[in-house]
Amino acid sequence: MKSVVLVVFLAAAHAVAGTWRFNGDKVFQVRPENENQVDFIKHLARIVKLDFWHPDSAQQVGTQMKVDFRVGADQVTFVQTLLEHHDMQYKILFQDVQEGIEKQFDGEKHVTKRYTYKKYNNWNKISAWTARIAKRFPKLVSRIQIGSTFENRPMYLLKVGKQTNIKKAIFMECGAHAREWISPAFCQWFVKEATKTYGKDKTMTKLLDSLSVYVLPVFNIDGYVWSWEEDRLWRKNRSNNSNSECIGTDLNRNFDAKWGTKFSDNDPCSPTYCGPAKESEKETKAVTTFIRDNLQSLKAFLSFHAYSQLLLYPYGYTFDPAPNQKKLDKIAQSAVKALTSLYNTTYVCGPIASTVCTILVLVLHSTGLMIRA
Ligand SMILES: [Zn+2]
Repeated sequence: MKSVVLVVFLAAAHAVAGTWRFNGDKVFQVRPENENQVDFIKHLARIVKLDFWHPDSAQQVGTQMKVDFRVGADQVTFVQTLLEHHDMQYKILFQDVQEGIEKQFDGEKHVTKRYTYKKYNNWNKISAWTARIAKRFPKLVSRIQIGSTFENRPMYLLKVGKQTNIKKAIFMECGAHAREWISPAFCQWFVKEATKTYGKDKTMTKLLDSLSVYVLPVFNIDGYVWSWEEDRLWRKNRSNNSNSECIGTDLNRNFDAKWGTKFSDNDPCSPTYCGPAKESEKETKAVTTFIRDNLQSLKAFLSFHAYSQLLLYPYGYTFDPAPNQKKLDKIAQSAVKALTSLYNTTYVCGPIASTVCTILVLVLHSTGLMIRA
Protein backbone atom coordinates (compact mmCIF):
# COMPACT_ATOMS: atom_id res chain seq x y z
CA MET A 1 0.00 0.00 0.00
CA LYS A 2 3.13 2.14 -0.04
CA SER A 3 2.51 4.19 -3.13
CA VAL A 4 -1.20 4.44 -2.57
CA VAL A 5 -2.46 7.74 -1.26
CA LEU A 6 -5.00 7.20 1.49
CA VAL A 7 -7.61 9.89 1.85
CA VAL A 8 -10.53 9.76 4.22
CA PHE A 9 -13.65 11.77 3.63
CA LEU A 10 -16.16 12.36 6.36
CA ALA A 11 -19.56 13.57 5.29
CA ALA A 12 -22.25 15.07 7.44
CA ALA A 13 -24.93 12.47 8.03
CA HIS A 14 -28.23 12.12 9.67
CA ALA A 15 -28.01 9.78 12.53
CA VAL A 16 -29.67 6.89 12.78
CA ALA A 17 -34.27 1.14 12.20
CA GLY A 18 -34.13 -2.19 13.46
CA THR A 19 -35.54 -3.91 16.50
CA TRP A 20 -33.13 -2.20 18.87
CA ARG A 21 -34.80 0.95 20.24
CA PHE A 22 -33.16 4.19 21.29
CA ASN A 23 -36.12 5.95 22.86
CA GLY A 24 -34.96 8.69 25.19
CA ASP A 25 -31.27 8.22 24.35
CA LYS A 26 -29.51 11.56 24.04
CA VAL A 27 -26.39 12.75 22.23
CA PHE A 28 -24.25 15.06 24.35
CA GLN A 29 -21.59 17.46 23.17
CA VAL A 30 -18.90 18.59 25.58
CA ARG A 31 -15.64 20.47 25.16
CA PRO A 32 -13.07 19.60 27.83
CA GLU A 33 -11.26 22.80 28.83
CA ASN A 34 -8.26 21.15 30.47
CA GLU A 35 -6.54 17.81 31.15
CA ASN A 36 -8.64 17.24 34.28
CA GLN A 37 -11.81 17.41 32.23
CA VAL A 38 -10.29 15.13 29.57
CA ASP A 39 -9.47 12.61 32.31
CA PHE A 40 -13.00 12.95 33.64
CA ILE A 41 -14.53 12.10 30.23
CA LYS A 42 -12.21 9.10 29.93
CA HIS A 43 -13.25 8.05 33.46
CA LEU A 44 -16.91 8.56 32.58
CA ALA A 45 -16.46 6.27 29.56
CA ARG A 46 -15.20 3.55 31.91
CA ILE A 47 -18.16 3.72 34.30
CA VAL A 48 -20.98 4.48 31.82
CA LYS A 49 -21.50 3.00 28.36
CA LEU A 50 -20.83 6.01 26.13
CA ASP A 51 -21.26 5.58 22.39
CA PHE A 52 -18.73 7.97 20.85
CA TRP A 53 -19.86 9.71 17.65
CA HIS A 54 -16.89 12.04 17.50
CA PRO A 55 -14.10 11.20 17.94
CA ASP A 56 -14.27 7.40 17.57
CA SER A 57 -13.27 6.58 21.13
CA ALA A 58 -12.44 8.01 24.57
CA GLN A 59 -8.73 7.51 23.80
CA GLN A 60 -8.86 10.25 21.20
CA VAL A 61 -10.45 12.88 23.43
CA GLY A 62 -8.31 15.98 23.92
CA THR A 63 -8.60 19.46 25.37
CA GLN A 64 -10.62 22.09 23.53
CA MET A 65 -12.11 19.40 21.31
CA LYS A 66 -15.78 18.96 20.61
CA VAL A 67 -16.73 15.52 21.86
CA ASP A 68 -20.08 13.98 20.89
CA PHE A 69 -21.41 10.81 22.53
CA ARG A 70 -24.72 8.99 22.92
CA VAL A 71 -26.00 8.11 26.38
CA GLY A 72 -28.69 5.49 27.04
CA ALA A 73 -31.99 6.85 28.40
CA ASP A 74 -31.46 5.17 31.78
CA GLN A 75 -28.09 6.87 32.27
CA VAL A 76 -28.94 10.38 31.06
CA THR A 77 -29.71 11.89 34.48
CA PHE A 78 -26.64 10.28 36.03
CA VAL A 79 -24.37 11.64 33.28
CA GLN A 80 -25.92 15.12 33.49
CA THR A 81 -25.38 15.19 37.25
CA LEU A 82 -21.74 14.16 36.91
CA LEU A 83 -21.06 16.69 34.15
CA GLU A 84 -22.55 19.48 36.25
CA HIS A 85 -20.62 18.32 39.29
CA HIS A 86 -17.42 18.67 37.25
CA ASP A 87 -18.44 22.11 35.97
CA MET A 88 -18.51 20.82 32.42
CA GLN A 89 -20.75 22.68 30.05
CA TYR A 90 -22.66 20.49 27.63
CA LYS A 91 -25.10 20.71 24.77
CA ILE A 92 -27.67 18.11 23.88
CA LEU A 93 -27.50 17.54 20.11
CA PHE A 94 -30.22 14.86 19.99
CA GLN A 95 -33.01 14.89 22.55
CA ASP A 96 -34.34 11.53 21.40
CA VAL A 97 -32.17 9.39 19.12
CA GLN A 98 -35.07 7.09 18.17
CA GLU A 99 -36.97 10.08 16.84
CA GLY A 100 -33.96 10.94 14.64
CA ILE A 101 -33.79 7.36 13.36
CA GLU A 102 -37.43 7.41 12.34
CA LYS A 103 -37.17 10.83 10.67
CA GLN A 104 -34.50 9.44 8.35
CA PHE A 105 -37.07 7.56 6.35
CA ASP A 106 -39.46 10.52 6.10
CA GLY A 107 -42.13 8.05 7.12
CA GLU A 108 -41.55 6.19 3.85
CA LYS A 109 -39.57 3.22 5.07
CA HIS A 110 -42.26 0.74 4.17
CA VAL A 111 -43.50 2.70 1.17
CA THR A 112 -40.28 3.04 -0.82
CA LYS A 113 -39.92 -0.44 -2.22
CA ARG A 114 -38.17 0.68 -5.38
CA TYR A 115 -34.45 1.45 -5.54
CA THR A 116 -33.79 5.20 -5.44
CA TYR A 117 -30.65 7.29 -5.21
CA LYS A 118 -32.41 9.80 -2.98
CA LYS A 119 -33.21 7.42 -0.10
CA TYR A 120 -31.14 4.95 1.86
CA ASN A 121 -31.21 1.53 0.21
CA ASN A 122 -30.86 -1.77 2.03
CA TRP A 123 -28.20 -4.28 0.97
CA ASN A 124 -30.52 -6.35 -1.25
CA LYS A 125 -31.38 -3.24 -3.25
CA ILE A 126 -27.75 -2.13 -3.48
CA SER A 127 -26.64 -5.59 -4.53
CA ALA A 128 -29.27 -5.75 -7.30
CA TRP A 129 -28.30 -2.22 -8.35
CA THR A 130 -24.63 -3.22 -8.87
CA ALA A 131 -25.76 -5.84 -11.42
CA ARG A 132 -28.22 -3.45 -13.07
CA ILE A 133 -25.85 -0.52 -13.50
CA ALA A 134 -23.14 -2.76 -15.03
CA LYS A 135 -25.67 -4.20 -17.48
CA ARG A 136 -26.98 -0.76 -18.40
CA PHE A 137 -23.57 0.81 -19.06
CA PRO A 138 -21.41 -2.10 -20.33
CA LYS A 139 -18.85 0.23 -21.92
CA LEU A 140 -18.34 2.19 -18.71
CA VAL A 141 -19.11 -0.08 -15.75
CA SER A 142 -18.18 -3.66 -14.97
CA ARG A 143 -18.82 -5.70 -11.80
CA ILE A 144 -16.21 -7.86 -10.08
CA GLN A 145 -16.59 -10.01 -6.95
CA ILE A 146 -13.52 -9.53 -4.77
CA GLY A 147 -14.48 -11.91 -1.96
CA SER A 148 -17.18 -12.82 0.53
CA THR A 149 -18.07 -11.52 3.97
CA PHE A 150 -18.04 -13.46 7.25
CA GLU A 151 -21.73 -14.25 6.71
CA ASN A 152 -20.93 -15.24 3.13
CA ARG A 153 -22.38 -12.31 1.25
CA PRO A 154 -20.62 -11.52 -2.08
CA MET A 155 -18.48 -8.38 -2.01
CA TYR A 156 -19.15 -6.57 -5.29
CA LEU A 157 -16.79 -3.98 -6.71
CA LEU A 158 -17.69 -1.75 -9.64
CA LYS A 159 -15.00 -0.70 -12.09
CA VAL A 160 -16.06 2.64 -13.47
CA GLY A 161 -14.21 4.13 -16.48
CA LYS A 162 -13.73 3.55 -20.16
CA GLN A 163 -13.33 -0.24 -20.28
CA THR A 164 -9.91 -0.38 -21.86
CA ASN A 165 -6.51 -1.40 -20.62
CA ILE A 166 -6.17 1.75 -18.57
CA LYS A 167 -3.08 2.08 -16.40
CA LYS A 168 -4.12 4.40 -13.56
CA ALA A 169 -6.87 3.72 -11.06
CA ILE A 170 -8.41 4.98 -7.80
CA PHE A 171 -9.98 2.70 -5.18
CA MET A 172 -13.03 4.15 -3.46
CA GLU A 173 -14.52 2.39 -0.45
CA CYS A 174 -17.78 3.17 1.34
CA GLY A 175 -19.51 1.70 4.37
CA ALA A 176 -16.58 0.44 6.45
CA HIS A 177 -18.63 1.46 9.47
CA ALA A 178 -22.10 -0.05 9.28
CA ARG A 179 -24.08 2.83 10.80
CA GLU A 180 -22.62 5.52 8.55
CA TRP A 181 -25.34 5.10 5.92
CA ILE A 182 -24.51 8.33 4.09
CA SER A 183 -21.26 6.72 2.94
CA PRO A 184 -22.71 3.86 0.79
CA ALA A 185 -25.34 6.36 -0.39
CA PHE A 186 -22.48 8.56 -1.64
CA CYS A 187 -20.73 5.70 -3.50
CA GLN A 188 -23.99 4.91 -5.34
CA TRP A 189 -24.52 8.59 -6.12
CA PHE A 190 -20.99 8.88 -7.49
CA VAL A 191 -21.58 5.99 -9.93
CA LYS A 192 -24.87 7.59 -10.97
CA GLU A 193 -23.18 10.95 -11.66
CA ALA A 194 -20.28 9.32 -13.51
CA THR A 195 -22.55 7.32 -15.83
CA LYS A 196 -24.95 10.23 -16.33
CA THR A 197 -22.36 12.85 -17.18
CA TYR A 198 -19.83 10.75 -19.15
CA GLY A 199 -19.77 12.01 -22.71
CA LYS A 200 -21.51 15.24 -21.69
CA ASP A 201 -19.33 16.79 -19.01
CA LYS A 202 -15.79 17.50 -20.23
CA THR A 203 -14.01 16.89 -16.92
CA MET A 204 -15.83 13.66 -16.11
CA THR A 205 -15.28 12.34 -19.65
CA LYS A 206 -11.59 13.12 -19.51
CA LEU A 207 -11.26 11.53 -16.06
CA LEU A 208 -13.07 8.33 -16.98
CA ASP A 209 -11.20 8.06 -20.28
CA SER A 210 -7.85 8.25 -18.53
CA LEU A 211 -8.43 6.36 -15.28
CA SER A 212 -10.61 3.73 -13.65
CA VAL A 213 -12.40 4.20 -10.38
CA TYR A 214 -12.98 1.02 -8.41
CA VAL A 215 -16.07 1.58 -6.25
CA LEU A 216 -16.82 -0.72 -3.31
CA PRO A 217 -20.32 0.51 -2.40
CA VAL A 218 -20.46 -1.36 0.91
CA PHE A 219 -17.29 -2.66 2.53
CA ASN A 220 -18.90 -3.91 5.76
CA ILE A 221 -21.98 -5.61 4.26
CA ASP A 222 -22.85 -7.86 7.22
CA GLY A 223 -22.68 -4.89 9.59
CA TYR A 224 -24.78 -2.80 7.20
CA VAL A 225 -27.46 -5.50 7.08
CA TRP A 226 -27.37 -5.69 10.89
CA SER A 227 -27.78 -1.91 11.14
CA TRP A 228 -30.94 -2.19 9.01
CA GLU A 229 -32.44 -5.21 10.68
CA GLU A 230 -31.36 -5.11 14.32
CA ASP A 231 -29.24 -2.26 15.60
CA ARG A 232 -29.19 1.03 13.68
CA LEU A 233 -26.08 2.15 15.55
CA TRP A 234 -23.95 -0.95 14.82
CA ARG A 235 -20.45 -0.08 13.61
CA LYS A 236 -18.21 -3.19 13.30
CA ASN A 237 -18.49 -6.28 11.08
CA ARG A 238 -20.32 -9.40 12.41
CA SER A 239 -17.52 -11.93 12.91
CA ASN A 240 -17.31 -14.03 16.08
CA ASN A 241 -14.56 -13.41 18.57
CA SER A 242 -13.05 -16.37 20.39
CA ASN A 243 -13.05 -16.03 24.19
CA SER A 244 -15.62 -13.26 24.03
CA GLU A 245 -19.33 -13.01 23.57
CA CYS A 246 -18.88 -9.66 21.86
CA ILE A 247 -19.24 -9.63 18.10
CA GLY A 248 -17.30 -7.82 15.42
CA THR A 249 -14.08 -6.07 14.41
CA ASP A 250 -13.66 -2.46 13.35
CA LEU A 251 -12.63 -3.03 9.72
CA ASN A 252 -10.69 0.19 9.26
CA ARG A 253 -8.52 -0.71 12.27
CA ASN A 254 -7.81 -4.19 10.90
CA PHE A 255 -5.39 -3.19 8.12
CA ASP A 256 -1.69 -4.00 8.17
CA ALA A 257 -0.64 -0.44 8.93
CA LYS A 258 0.81 -0.17 12.45
CA TRP A 259 -1.99 -2.56 13.40
CA GLY A 260 -3.11 -2.52 17.02
CA THR A 261 -1.18 0.59 17.96
CA LYS A 262 -2.61 4.05 18.45
CA PHE A 263 -6.36 4.76 18.59
CA SER A 264 -7.43 1.12 18.33
CA ASP A 265 -8.59 -1.26 21.04
CA ASN A 266 -7.68 -4.83 21.98
CA ASP A 267 -11.02 -5.38 23.69
CA PRO A 268 -13.46 -7.36 21.45
CA CYS A 269 -16.33 -5.50 23.13
CA SER A 270 -14.99 -2.11 22.02
CA PRO A 271 -16.45 -0.41 18.93
CA THR A 272 -12.85 0.29 17.84
CA TYR A 273 -11.63 -3.34 18.30
CA CYS A 274 -8.79 -3.95 15.83
CA GLY A 275 -9.41 -7.71 15.54
CA PRO A 276 -7.32 -10.70 16.72
CA ALA A 277 -4.65 -10.14 14.04
CA LYS A 278 -3.93 -7.80 11.16
CA GLU A 279 -6.16 -8.56 8.18
CA SER A 280 -7.92 -11.22 10.25
CA GLU A 281 -11.30 -10.31 8.73
CA LYS A 282 -12.52 -11.74 5.41
CA GLU A 283 -13.69 -8.30 4.31
CA THR A 284 -10.34 -6.62 5.00
CA LYS A 285 -8.45 -9.50 3.37
CA ALA A 286 -10.58 -9.22 0.20
CA VAL A 287 -9.78 -5.51 -0.10
CA THR A 288 -6.06 -5.79 0.66
CA THR A 289 -5.63 -8.75 -1.73
CA PHE A 290 -7.25 -6.70 -4.49
CA ILE A 291 -5.07 -3.70 -3.67
CA ARG A 292 -1.86 -5.76 -3.70
CA ASP A 293 -2.85 -7.43 -6.99
CA ASN A 294 -3.42 -4.02 -8.56
CA LEU A 295 -0.70 -1.98 -6.89
CA GLN A 296 0.86 -1.08 -10.22
CA SER A 297 -2.18 0.83 -11.37
CA LEU A 298 -3.67 2.11 -8.08
CA LYS A 299 -2.72 5.67 -7.25
CA ALA A 300 -5.14 6.51 -4.43
CA PHE A 301 -7.38 4.88 -1.83
CA LEU A 302 -10.39 6.87 -0.70
CA SER A 303 -12.49 5.91 2.31
CA PHE A 304 -15.82 7.64 2.96
CA HIS A 305 -17.20 8.04 6.47
CA ALA A 306 -19.61 10.04 8.63
CA TYR A 307 -19.91 12.23 10.62
CA SER A 308 -18.30 15.71 10.47
CA GLN A 309 -17.05 17.51 7.40
CA LEU A 310 -13.41 16.57 7.24
CA LEU A 311 -11.02 15.60 4.49
CA LEU A 312 -8.27 13.59 6.15
CA TYR A 313 -5.01 12.20 4.87
CA PRO A 314 -2.21 10.08 6.47
CA TYR A 315 -1.08 9.41 9.05
CA GLY A 316 -3.70 8.30 11.56
CA TYR A 317 -1.45 6.31 13.89
CA THR A 318 1.19 8.93 14.48
CA PHE A 319 1.45 12.69 14.70
CA ASP A 320 4.60 12.57 12.52
CA PRO A 321 4.06 14.03 9.05
CA ALA A 322 3.92 11.69 6.05
CA PRO A 323 6.96 11.97 3.73
CA ASN A 324 4.71 13.45 1.03
CA GLN A 325 2.79 15.68 3.47
CA LYS A 326 3.12 18.81 1.31
CA LYS A 327 1.75 17.08 -1.76
CA LEU A 328 -1.09 15.51 0.22
CA ASP A 329 -1.99 18.83 1.75
CA LYS A 330 -1.97 20.58 -1.62
CA ILE A 331 -4.34 17.97 -3.06
CA ALA A 332 -6.57 18.15 0.02
CA GLN A 333 -6.71 21.95 -0.09
CA SER A 334 -7.75 21.97 -3.72
CA ALA A 335 -10.37 19.28 -3.09
CA VAL A 336 -11.84 21.30 -0.23
CA LYS A 337 -11.85 24.41 -2.41
CA ALA A 338 -13.65 22.54 -5.18
CA LEU A 339 -16.20 21.26 -2.67
CA THR A 340 -16.87 24.76 -1.40
CA SER A 341 -17.30 26.12 -4.90
CA LEU A 342 -20.46 24.07 -5.42
CA TYR A 343 -22.69 24.59 -2.39
CA ASN A 344 -20.42 26.54 -0.06
CA THR A 345 -19.92 23.47 2.12
CA THR A 346 -16.90 23.89 4.33
CA TYR A 347 -14.64 20.94 4.93
CA VAL A 348 -11.57 21.09 7.16
CA CYS A 349 -8.54 19.15 5.96
CA GLY A 350 -5.35 17.79 7.53
CA PRO A 351 -3.56 14.64 8.67
CA ILE A 352 -5.91 12.15 10.39
CA ALA A 353 -4.23 11.99 13.80
CA SER A 354 -3.65 15.67 14.39
CA THR A 355 -6.79 16.93 12.66
CA VAL A 356 -9.21 14.71 14.52
CA CYS A 357 -7.41 15.27 17.78
CA THR A 358 -6.05 18.79 17.94
CA ILE A 359 -5.69 20.98 14.85
CA LEU A 360 -9.37 20.69 14.09
CA VAL A 361 -10.22 22.67 17.17
CA LEU A 362 -7.62 25.33 16.49
CA VAL A 363 -8.86 25.81 12.96
CA LEU A 364 -12.39 26.06 14.20
CA HIS A 365 -11.40 28.64 16.75
CA SER A 366 -9.51 30.82 14.36
CA THR A 367 -12.15 30.81 11.67
CA GLY A 368 -15.27 30.53 13.75
CA LEU A 369 -16.33 27.60 11.59
CA MET A 370 -18.74 25.03 12.86
CA ILE A 371 -18.47 21.35 12.03
CA ARG A 372 -22.02 20.29 11.38
CA ALA A 373 -23.18 17.16 13.16
ZN1 LIG B 1 -16.43 5.68 9.99
